[in-house]
Amino acid sequence: MLDRLELKAYGKINLGLDVVRKREDGYHEVRMIMQTVHLHDRIVMEKTKEPGIRTETNLPYVPDGEGNLAWRAAKLLMDEFGLSEGVDIKIRKCIPVAAGMAGGSTDAAAVLVGMNRLFGLGLGKKELMRRGVKLGADIPYCILRGTALSEGIGEILTELPPAPQCHVVLAKPQISVSTKAVYEKLRVDALGPEAHPDIDGMAAAIRAGSLDGVTARLGNVLETVTIPDHPEIGAIKRIMLEHGAEGALMSGSGPTVFGIFKDREEADAVCGILRETDNGRLTRQVYLTRFFNKKPAR
Ligand code: ATP
Repeated sequence: MLDRLELKAYGKINLGLDVVRKREDGYHEVRMIMQTVHLHDRIVMEKTKEPGIRTETNLPYVPDGEGNLAWRAAKLLMDEFGLSEGVDIKIRKCIPVAAGMAGGSTDAAAVLVGMNRLFGLGLGKKELMRRGVKLGADIPYCILRGTALSEGIGEILTELPPAPQCHVVLAKPQISVSTKAVYEKLRVDALGPEAHPDIDGMAAAIRAGSLDGVTARLGNVLETVTIPDHPEIGAIKRIMLEHGAEGALMSGSGPTVFGIFKDREEADAVCGILRETDNGRLTRQVYLTRFFNKKPAR
């Protein structure tokens, strides 16, 4: 029987993010094109005789225990299945935290998958996704992974073919943005049609295997809130676009910005430029990555 597991929990970016409306229950209805990237957290899960869940991360500002979404994921299955043994969960964070890359959600998704395997619970992927949405709207997608259209509050998922490959530069400015505050400030009704990205066009471009079609349609309605408040986000986008990016966009509710490059050398060069801009005050977290897909792109 399995006693120890090592898992990779991958981050995501949004190639497109639109908010359709605010529902009566306060949730926002979204339409998003989700894309997994290779940048990942590493999770080690170990079954213990001692009951209970213990979590530990390598970062002092990420909570341990109940405050950690991964802890809550383990707890959900432990309670449902009345498990008498315990689990130790060690998380090595590499995905920037509170950055619009679903770092907590992907850790929770990996722990759901890990608990299922470690304790032989026999749940299928769909059954794990149904449980995951109780903890967070992005968790079902983090279980699915790859390229997908996400609708509803994020839980209605349509798989797309793998997005065309490219080099992706991720840069998180040294600012904090609260997801809740961004959504609260967004006034969907007050926005003109140009603020809404062409999500269906983006899905069609992906189906056609056209990277140019994808980069022409990058759009995130939440930038209307974050860019006026945080000029750093606009500055990073400009630097990427001035140095060869085919397109650049804020991911999720930010503040991480990603740039899409065809040329690896240009992508490498922009990483150096970003790290040195303003003597490193603009951003210290810069990563070069690729799209993660379950199947190779055409
Ligand atoms: P999203 O894109 O889903 O809005 P995010 O990338 O903006 O997510 P996270 O990295 O998930 O944000 O972190 C949001 C907050 O959640 C953090 O400030 C942190 O305190 C808390 N948190 C709980 N569990 C985790 C975890 N496993 N990893 C990172 N943050 C976590």
